[in-house]
Amino acid sequence: MVLAQLGGSISRALAQMSNATVIDEKVLNDCLNEISRALLQADVQFKMVRDMQTNIKRIVNLEALAAGTNKRRIMQQAVFTELCNMLDPGKPSFTPKKGKPSVVMFVGLQALETREIDKQGMGKVRYMDDLCQKVMLKVIHHASVAYGFWEHGTSSGKTTTCTKYAYYHQRKGFKPALVCADTFRAGAFDQLKQNATKAKIPFYGSYMESDPVKIAVEGVERFKKENCDLIIVDTSGRHKQEAALFEEMRQVSEATKPDLVIFVMDSSIGQAAFDQAQAFKQSVSVGAVIVTKMDGHAKGGGALSAVAATKSPVIFIGTGEHIDEFEVFDVKPFVSRLLGMGDWSGFMDKIHEVVPTDQQPELLQKLSEGSFTLRLMYEQFQNILKMGPIGQVFSMLPGFSSELMPKGHEKESQAKIKRYMTMMDSMTDAELDSTNPKLMTESRIIRIARGSGRPVRDVMDMLEEYKRLAKIWSKMKGLKIPKKGEMSALSRNMNV
Ligand code: GDP
Repeated sequence: MVLAQLGGSISRALAQMSNATVIDEKVLNDCLNEISRALLQADVQFKMVRDMQTNIKRIVNLEALAAGTNKRRIMQQAVFTELCNMLDPGKPSFTPKKGKPSVVMFVGLQALETREIDKQGMGKVRYMDDLCQKVMLKVIHHASVAYGFWEHGTSSGKTTTCTKYAYYHQRKGFKPALVCADTFRAGAFDQLKQNATKAKIPFYGSYMESDPVKIAVEGVERFKKENCDLIIVDTSGRHKQEAALFEEMRQVSEATKPDLVIFVMDSSIGQAAFDQAQAFKQSVSVGAVIVTKMDGHAKGGGALSAVAATKSPVIFIGTGEHIDEFEVFDVKPFVSRLLGMGDWSGFMDKIHEVVPTDQQPELLQKLSEGSFTLRLMYEQFQNILKMGPIGQVFSMLPGFSSELMPKGHEKESQAKIKRYMTMMDSMTDAELDSTNPKLMTESRIIRIARGSGRPVRDVMDMLEEYKRLAKIWSKMKGLKIPKKGEMSALSRNMNV
């Protein structure tokens, strides 16, 4: 995630300060200026950054800092508190409950360019007879995709996010369903249907019907009858100046009576998110916000802080195009991870989500013992190859920067993991179960290289990776493993 850059800059500024032999006003100011620069680069509003700087200066007592043994911790804590305050968006007005039917309506903006093309096309299409209309819609859709109109401009990622939201809840045991009430954008129907089919989520929509209110009502009624407990209604993209389009959104809302309206926005707009969030808040009762594309834009920090300033609760962030690149937004764990302190609650949540249930107790036990063997690494690699997302588990750990599985290089990473596993196949049980790095003598390394047909350099590489992961793992020694749902109290005071 690009925000890692911001986190990295802040961590470096803190490290530089704690390395200084004498902490005086100048060292403190240099550190704060460095942090401020990083925040401004992430498009955080100037006034917010200035207020944060003033607050930290007020909180941090220079004398305590000079005498304190852990200067870095004191400053880190102050920065942590201030960033949390800046990003805290408050709580959503509604949270879906399993087994209780709820309707969630998604709203968002669409690129002007795309919208104009769609509007012209759809305006004509709606007056044609059925068959003609169907054919025309297909033509417009394919032509638009072919010429790349969809990707152009500022599509918020709303349709993708609807499916991610449904999929997330499906994995938590909900029975979600998707309704496409976007009759405005040719292609929205196909897109949502394809996404829903891939994720095995029931879907309702119509090529023919041009009235979004009718579709939304029919979809919601049908899925209520089918006992779905989370009915997600995707509406057309909107531009804030278009009163008529806002009116349509209001009508869908009135007809379906959603329990929650979620506004989806693209993080690349940075601090301009303030105006967008405000405009939507005033037009429909937005109960929550999802900020997308946090993986691709340096302005993510600006978008998040701007939304928080409107007191609109951000509940999830989109971190990639893939259906499971979607994270709960919880401000403290988020800032903790940003500052390289790890996200323990997210980490535990991910373990419960992606590690097979029968392997969880043993894995958690080994976590609390802090002992990481090569065999454990082998087993986790098996999980990565089988399930993919365990790479996300490790990314929640302090100091772990997705080096093993960098984004966009998944194929290379998988090949590397397979290479590591081939080498581990040539190890003895004693080697796999040992926690003593000294056991891996030169002669053993040469034997493993020969046995696996890999160069010695590769074996050394693999052992380095093991040492790195073992170091991270060892920090969890003594960790009290909470049960699912009891994650938030996890220690933030761990020695990172
Ligand atoms: P809509 O027009 O607002 O419904 O937007 P779409 O759902 O069609 O998304 C537009 C583009 O953004 C698609 O290419 C999506 O794959 C992409 N997208 C959506 N969410 C994310 C995200 O969190 N990260 C990245 N990198 N791309 C995203």
